[in-house]
Amino acid sequence: MAAAPTSGCGPSRTASVFPKTINSSNLVASAHNPPASTASGGDASSPGHAGAAAREFDAAIFDMDGVVTRTAAVHSRAWKQMFDDYLRARAARNLGEFREFTHEGDYRRYVDGRPRYQGVAKFLDSRGITLPAGVPEDAPDAETVCGLGNRKNELFNEIIAREGAGLYESTVALIATLRAQGYKVGLATSSRNSALILEKSGVASLFGSVVDGVVSAVLGLQGKPAPDIFQAASARLGVHPEHAIVIEDAASGVEAGANGGFALVIGLAREDNHAELWRSGADLVVSDLAEVTLAQINEAIRAKRAKG
Ligand SMILES: [Mg+2]
Repeated sequence: MAAAPTSGCGPSRTASVFPKTINSSNLVASAHNPPASTASGGDASSPGHAGAAAREFDAAIFDMDGVVTRTAAVHSRAWKQMFDDYLRARAARNLGEFREFTHEGDYRRYVDGRPRYQGVAKFLDSRGITLPAGVPEDAPDAETVCGLGNRKNELFNEIIAREGAGLYESTVALIATLRAQGYKVGLATSSRNSALILEKSGVASLFGSVVDGVVSAVLGLQGKPAPDIFQAASARLGVHPEHAIVIEDAASGVEAGANGGFALVIGLAREDNHAELWRSGADLVVSDLAEVTLAQINEAIRAKRAKG
């Protein structure tokens, strides 16, 4: 297996402030999703009640794109527009043939879930194209890995600003239930736009910790499938990975969770890619979080621990 020609750009010169997201007074009402633990006869929010014993974890770490927000489609569109524009111009310049960037063959395989610049490098490598890495400050029209990544980011932000970011209501409902019952909730995403997207979609206050692409760069964390970013999000909640679960929709993210020693990794097969997520190490795979209750999550952790 060939390694990507470059892991991305050089380090950014601009450090960013870690986004503050804790605001329990602003929690989305959870009345629309009653505590799942009542299904098994317990109320985990009452210390000493029988239901408290059914609680097998303390924190849940969510990926953002495709799990909380419906931004995956926006990313795919922005990547396609950027790469198609570039490939078309390059083909014209070299009198070569233009071959389009596809969702199934290219986005899913090389880009989805990876840090932006690594995604650029990985896809270019697949087409036998080598460009200078450049630096994060490169202009969006620079013919470098960073420049192309920045152009994609510009296109993405244009779409978000124009159309906003939709939410997966079932995910928001589960987060509200978790928080109402005292579980901690964090976010771990490769995105460098999480502050904008979370704010735009009104869910920034739901997460007690956010580790995104900006924080990762500051801390020197490796991108998914390395487990760093999930572990950092868990650590910031004060919870050991053995007592935290991961919810992810991309294969590389599921792999990251599986590599991180977490209590459970739930794969969200948004594109009917159940088999791929199972192969990547998911403990549980569903199409949407509406298919699973908190009681079932706790039960799955018990079953996993029983297997050893
Ligand atoms: Mg995702």
